[in-house]
Amino acid sequence: MRPHSDVIVIGAGIVGAACALSLQKAGRQTLLIDAAQPGCGITAAGMGHLVALDESAQELDLCLYSLGLWRQWVEQHPGIGQVVQSGTLWVAENEQQRIEAEARAERLNARAWQADLLNTDQLRQLEPSLRHGLAGAVRVAGDSVVYPPIIAHHLAQELQMFGGEILCGQRVMSLHDSSGKTSTVLLENGQHLSAQYVVVAAGLGVANLLSDMPVFPRKGHLAITDRYPGRLQHQIVSMDYGQHAMTADGLSVAANIQPRATGQWLIGSSRQDGKTDTKVSPIALGAVLQSAIRLLPCLAKMQIIRAWAGLRPASPDGQPIIGEHPHRPGVWLAAGHEGLGVTTAFATAEIVKDQITGQKPAIDPTPYAPSRLLKESINESAYG
Ligand SMILES: Cc1cc2nc3c(=O)[nH]c(=O)nc-3n(C[C@H](O)[C@H](O)[C@H](O)COP(=O)(O)OP(=O)(O)OC[C@H]3O[C@@H](n4cnc5c(N)ncnc54)[C@H](O)[C@@H]3O)c2cc1C
Repeated sequence: MRPHSDVIVIGAGIVGAACALSLQKAGRQTLLIDAAQPGCGITAAGMGHLVALDESAQELDLCLYSLGLWRQWVEQHPGIGQVVQSGTLWVAENEQQRIEAEARAERLNARAWQADLLNTDQLRQLEPSLRHGLAGAVRVAGDSVVYPPIIAHHLAQELQMFGGEILCGQRVMSLHDSSGKTSTVLLENGQHLSAQYVVVAAGLGVANLLSDMPVFPRKGHLAITDRYPGRLQHQIVSMDYGQHAMTADGLSVAANIQPRATGQWLIGSSRQDGKTDTKVSPIALGAVLQSAIRLLPCLAKMQIIRAWAGLRPASPDGQPIIGEHPHRPGVWLAAGHEGLGVTTAFATAEIVKDQITGQKPAIDPTPYAPSRLLKESINESAYG
């Protein structure tokens, strides 16, 4: 292992692994460090839905840029990552949601991401397992499903193929600016390693390394069924998703059912702030399953074989944190992607790589800049 690299990336989740590979391919000698193994953090706990979410213009920009990069990656890596070209069915349960679905279709079509409106009958024909009487849906054909931990692992392997290095099983304890031109990381074994640039992509671990970066956990529950091949073709998501209607204890739930390449159904999902444990809550899990059964009644008779909870690394304004730390030259962030880190990993990596190598990123990176949060944290002290 070299004591000095051009770049050290801390965290080999899907975000850090994508950043490391991109930088190495751009000719920067890169070392990727993880306290455990590639893809074993939140990347292993999520759903792997590659989705064009449009809750804000900035979110959609990042998703669409990344989905284009995912498309290329999938073409270049056939057979890797359990890819299912499922599309998404955004299902409207009532007239209000149907109107919102229309607006979503307009927004996505305006950006050339095909979105087709379906009426009640068309919806039932497309997915016969859906319950009768739904108000309609938007079908987003270009969305898909992957298995994120395998992809993170593969990216880390590719990094090594391109001459990069990876150090697993070593936690970075702290990060120091040793001179204007280098940063140094201290490993738990006492070793110091230095680099011109350090990219902190440590998921929830960011807050331990950079205490001024308000990355906080947003808990989510998932369950997976036994194998039922052929019963579901699309990722089914309620138009409720992202609306954040909460119960008194801050729990919000929206049905999100994913067909896995194995024939299993992965069922989500919930959101809850203020929780730092990954214990499964029967109340949250029950609410998730009920919301899914409301759309897909046959699920009530299917076998659930495992349930778990994961902590999404969230940021106060819902946008990821991508770019150079405003007060620490040479320290970059790629973090806080909440429930979209798999979708947006490749766009994040390109932005970080372009900024470090002095290129103009393909989309405006300003909405994701770390500096916005430092300003906010001065004005508002109640975050996460
Ligand atoms: C229930 C749920 C559903 C989700 N569904 C989706 C979805 O459908 N689509 C989507 O796009 N996203 C989804 N996500 C979100 C997505 O999983 C995350 O945004 C993404 O995995 C974050 O990746 P990461 O690389 O930033 O973090 P992680 O995967 O957590 O990686 C961080 C890595 O850093 C390492 N690390 C931490 N601290 C240190 C340190 N000090 N030193 C060394 N290493 C360190 C950890 O070991 C870990 O491997 C979901 C998440 C959850 C919980």
